[in-house]
Amino acid sequence: MNCIFCQIAAGEIPAQKVYEDDRFFAFHDVAPTAPVHVLLIPKTHIASIAAMTDAEEAAEMPGFFAAIRTITRQLGIEEGGYRLVVNTGADGGQTVPHFHAHIIGGKALGWPPFHD
Ligand code: 5GP
Ligand code: ZN
Repeated sequence: MNCIFCQIAAGEIPAQKVYEDDRFFAFHDVAPTAPVHVLLIPKTHIASIAAMTDAEEAAEMPGFFAAIRTITRQLGIEEGGYRLVVNTGADGGQTVPHFHAHIIGGKALGWPPFHD
């Protein structure tokens, strides 16, 4: 599978890993937009929320929010707060077609998060 995030999860492309369990893998974004910017992905290739089937969600997504709690606690941003971003599809600005949640924090973030 020629997917950069599948290759990162498999250890075939190096990344700064912050978390791993049976289903999920998390690593620092190569181009951070805040002091903490981590990407959380399922190890199974799922292109996006739009492409995810109900069966894939049931099989691959349990533990997603628990992983976020563990990661944010580990990185010291659980108390201060953080933002989850899941860019989806062309208008959503998704550039890597393997579902990922951006976990962004480490400073007070502005709102709204988008611009033209
Ligand atoms: P998207 O735009 O799809 O929501 O987010 C893709 C994210 O993946 C971007 O923030 C980008 O910086 C990050 N990214 C792309 N390629 C790599 C890579 O090879 N390694 C790491 N660590 N992050 C990457
Ligand atoms: Zn993939």
